[in-house]
Amino acid sequence: MNRNYADILALAGRDPDWFDEYAVPRFEAFAPDRIANIYASECALVLIACQSCKAEFKVAFSEVNATSAVSRFDGRRSAQRRASIAEMITRGRLHYGDPPNTNCCAAGASMNSVPLRVLEYWQTLRHDLSRVGQHLSPEDIADLSPRWERDAELEIEIIRPERRVAGAHQYVIQPVNVKERDFHLIANGPRPVAPFSHAVETDGWVILTGQMPTDPNAPDAPLPDGVEAQTRRVMDNLEIVLKGVGLDLSHVVQCRAYLTAFERDYAAFNDTYQTYFPADRRPARTTVGVTALAVGALVEIDCVARRPRGDGGAA
Ligand SMILES: [Zn+2]
Repeated sequence: MNRNYADILALAGRDPDWFDEYAVPRFEAFAPDRIANIYASECALVLIACQSCKAEFKVAFSEVNATSAVSRFDGRRSAQRRASIAEMITRGRLHYGDPPNTNCCAAGASMNSVPLRVLEYWQTLRHDLSRVGQHLSPEDIADLSPRWERDAELEIEIIRPERRVAGAHQYVIQPVNVKERDFHLIANGPRPVAPFSHAVETDGWVILTGQMPTDPNAPDAPLPDGVEAQTRRVMDNLEIVLKGVGLDLSHVVQCRAYLTAFERDYAAFNDTYQTYFPADRRPARTTVGVTALAVGALVEIDCVARRPRGDGGAA
């Protein structure tokens, strides 16, 4: 249970910009030298949500509220040490606890919270104490104050937006490290016809599984008739998967198409396919004739998309 700081809130007369490590409401832009702990060497501003009503808050972490321990196995001996905030982010262990006691539900301040996204991550070298005791000019003293550096690599989605679905009883904790692979299965996406993810993402590249001309809303219905209708359905399915990871066809850099009746269908396939891309922004493409496709389809298309730089996750 956090204090509600109604006195501060009444004075301010507006919603706080963020809450510090003790859930005290703050009414200025977040900056690493504005957090409660003046001795911090690491801090983060994190978007969290009340686990009950899903109200969202921006909250700060520093050494004072990021206290998770990790085990270290060293030969036969194991030891506990405190995890850094960076470690807690990459391991999905960041935990604020009770949400701030304002603008939430009745349960709110005694409810748990879940982390959604790291908005800012900062670290600094510790104060240089080697010159303590020397006579220091004001310039020297300014020089000794901590220099904060921001690290965008750690500003990542902890729970992706598509997993924050309304009606879910609880958020699904899905730690995401931007340096690792991310396996996407899109809710309401085309039903997979084999063991695969809809898309796999690594280092900004999103590789989509080949889509079939099946209807996601009626996966057992007969396939559309003819290569034009099937091509449209396949392209629409690619768009559904792209949308599920916050992208669209404009992010596609390459397509590969497979046709079971290449000689007969190639021209008609091209006519339909080309309507999905502006003439001056067509992805690189390979098209091959194949002997057969899953579910008896006439056409299958896969693609590779590139996430725009600075876009850490699905929007
Ligand atoms: Zn709440």
